[in-house]
Formats: sequence, structure tokens, C-alpha cells
Amino acid sequence: MYKYKNTVIKLFQGDITKVKADGIVNAANNTLLGGGGVDGAIHRAGGPEILEQCKRIGGCPTGEARITTAGKLPSKYVIHTVGPIYRKGNSREAELLHNAYFNSLKLAKEYSLKSVAFPSISTGIYSYPIDKASDIAIKSIIEFIDKEDFIEEIIFVLFNDKDFSIYENKLNKIFR
Ligand code: ADP
Repeated sequence: MYKYKNTVIKLFQGDITKVKADGIVNAANNTLLGGGGVDGAIHRAGGPEILEQCKRIGGCPTGEARITTAGKLPSKYVIHTVGPIYRKGNSREAELLHNAYFNSLKLAKEYSLKSVAFPSISTGIYSYPIDKASDIAIKSIIEFIDKEDFIEEIIFVLFNDKDFSIYENKLNKIFR
């Protein structure tokens, strides 16, 4: 557990669909119609209510975020954001990944969500290198807290232990 200003930052290893937070973030794709990885897991565990709302929303540009309720999940809301597909690092990937984190938190603020859980956006099927992506994830949330000091808790949810250690090492360096 880490603390930055008034925000507690936590790490959790495992399945984000089990996390109880005001909002969990989904690493979705532009259609918002579901996919593999964490997106598939969220729709499977949350049930059809989420997909119905996603259909009505009608898609989401890369770097932006949209919100639905969370169906059968223990959280209240799902924030669907779309990270970039990593090509060679010169297609604005860093900026778009930053925007995905930042815009998710902006939406969380709009809905007065006090705790938000993030998966490692873009580092699965979209093949963003985890070392670079984790730097951006951490920097983006720090920047958000600096600007909008309101969020009580941010949880980084890492699906495997390698990703978990990468985050742990970085957060230890920054906050300890
Ligand atoms: P993207 O298309 O943005 O790369 P993926 O879902 O393929 O999204 O992968 C993003 C990250 O989410 C990967 O690190 C993957 O291991 C992780 N992941 C997959 N399933 C889950 C889950 N149920 N809970 C948390 N993280 C998950």
C-alpha cells in the first residue's frame, strides 16, 4: 500500500472482476462490443446488462473512456477505455495510453467514484511492453492526483506475478 497526497495506491494480483471498487476499468476495444482478455472476463462475469449499455453507447475512440453500470460484478460501475495497439512506439502510443488512464479518472470524478481499479491497459493483446506501459500508468495517475486531488483509492490489478513485480518495484522506488 502506498500513499500519494490524499490517495491510497494499492496493488492486487489476480482477476479484476473480483475486485470491489466504485469503478473498475475495462481495457476495451473501439467497438465496445466485447473481446478477449480482461474485456471478455468483465462481460462474462458482469452479465448482459453491460453489453446492452455498450451497444447503446456505440463505440469509443482510442484514448477516451465511457461508463456503464457493472451488472453482477461487485463494483458499481465499469469504465471502458481503449488503449492503443502498440506498433513501434512512434504512433502516439504513449500519449494515447496516458489519455486512457487520465480520461478514465476524469470520468470517475464526474461520477464521484472514490475507488477505481485498473488492469494493465494495452499490455495483453495490444502488446504494449509492460515496462514502458507501467511507467505511463503510474505517471498518469500521479499527474491526475496532482491536478484533481479527490480520488481516495487507486488499485492496480495485475493478472500475473511478473507484471505485479514490475509495478511493485516501480512503486517502491517512487514512494519508499
Ligand atoms: P489489451 O487489448 O488492452 O492489451 P488485454 O485484456 O489483452 O487488453 O490485456 C490487458 C492486461 O489485462 C494483460 O496484462 C492481461 O494479462 C490482463 N488480464 C486479462 N484478464 C484479466 C482479468 N480477468 N483481470 C485482470 N487483468 C486481466
